[in-house]
Amino acid sequence: MSKSPVIAPTDAYSALLTRMRELRVADSIEQILDWDSETYMPRGAAAHRGEQAALIAGVAHERRTSDELGALLERAARETGGDPVRETNVREMRRVHERAVKLPTALVQEIARSTTVAKEAWSRARADRSFSAFAPHLQQILDLKRQVAERVGWDSEPYDALMDEFEPQARAADVQRVFDELKRELVPLVQALTSAKRQPDLALLSRPAAVEGQQRFNRLVSEAMGFDFTAGRLDISTHPFCTGITTRDVRLTTRYNERYMPQSLFGVMHEVGHGLYEQGFLAEHEFTPMAAAVSLGIHESQSRMWENMVGRSAAFWRHFYPRLQAEFDSYRDVPESAWVFAINNVRPSLIRVEADEVTYGLHIMLRFEIERRMIAGKLAVADIPQAWNEGVRSLLGITPPDDAAGCLQDIHWSLGIFGYFPTYQLGNLYAAQLYAAAERAMPDLEAKIAAGQMRPLLDWLRTNVHHHGRRYRAHELVKVVSGSELSPRPFLDYLNGKYRALYGV
Ligand code: ZN
Repeated sequence: MSKSPVIAPTDAYSALLTRMRELRVADSIEQILDWDSETYMPRGAAAHRGEQAALIAGVAHERRTSDELGALLERAARETGGDPVRETNVREMRRVHERAVKLPTALVQEIARSTTVAKEAWSRARADRSFSAFAPHLQQILDLKRQVAERVGWDSEPYDALMDEFEPQARAADVQRVFDELKRELVPLVQALTSAKRQPDLALLSRPAAVEGQQRFNRLVSEAMGFDFTAGRLDISTHPFCTGITTRDVRLTTRYNERYMPQSLFGVMHEVGHGLYEQGFLAEHEFTPMAAAVSLGIHESQSRMWENMVGRSAAFWRHFYPRLQAEFDSYRDVPESAWVFAINNVRPSLIRVEADEVTYGLHIMLRFEIERRMIAGKLAVADIPQAWNEGVRSLLGITPPDDAAGCLQDIHWSLGIFGYFPTYQLGNLYAAQLYAAAERAMPDLEAKIAAGQMRPLLDWLRTNVHHHGRRYRAHELVKVVSGSELSPRPFLDYLNGKYRALYGV
């Protein structure tokens, strides 16, 4: 009806902004409850915390799926006036709303119940190193997630409907093509590196490093990267994570090991990478999808870029190694080159979370292939351990001694999370493609990093990635920023360039 260019303050879009804000506030309450239970909450509070989390999750779900919101979204969609910010916010709110209303409350509750039980069963089965105790739970969750895929809908295969939750619009068949291309070069590269004569001295990574020294050094590096501690914190938890509550409240965690300092250091650089993204959205868009991450893959690209492309580069250590030696006496006699080689060691291993950046992709390809076959009904639950072990043998040349070091190692399936794993490796690929674009835009980037100046990279990421919020889908963002479609080429070029030089192959 109305074609007026001036939009009244009482229009549907303004009402929608209010709803968006309320929903983000509700979600952020859940986040702070989670953060607290992972960091400071006494164990005795667990039961009450469960009630708090369930209540707030219920409120948020009700609001997210309400008919009123649906009607508001329809009206607001007609009132965007072609404005890209409004279009993005309406489109993204709609996507989340439409997905949520397709899932009946009974199904959502059944998944919540089953995964709570399955998580415990998985934990016990892993401790007992036996898949068979977990199998019936996994079967049940798989059946439920297949129902989710059917309700959500898909074009090519049900896996797409599940992956869409984490990597909107990604298609398994496209991911497979990219992974296949990657695998063709990754497998021979791993073989070349592991059989190289020149090998790093890994023992130097376990030199003693006091927790207080690690904390000081982590802080020095985090601040140099640009993390704003007036709008964030770094605490301790068993499983490190980053949670962006608002752009002015970003919480990171780490854990310390006095005989393995790189774990915390690179873990912190990883989480700071996530945290810089969360702090980097524009304040004017706070509480809307324009101040939210594109996808898990793009989020992971930010963490991997800072952790690996910056943090494990020779340039970075030219500035920081003397500072590391000043902090840790035990490193005084370790040459900088030996340190850089050791933190870039490559060797096939069984556990994904401990894998280096070269072999990491192979761990993901295995999970991706198995998950896709499971969801498609082409792999029976009982056959998973065998498929897993054969996959590890063919990709990495080693064999898990038991299921705990094999198909039981990751928590995801017990939580009903399928389609999440590929986003980890997509993150590596996006990171390399974005970083190559940053290097083209700033030919002196490496020299800047070697001088301890990381602000130019952060500013470039702010402008080219962070400030866009969810304006672009992941594949669009990569194209807009780099000028080409997602390709494994920049990642392979990066790996070949760095590792062949280090290992002399
Ligand atoms: Zn991460």
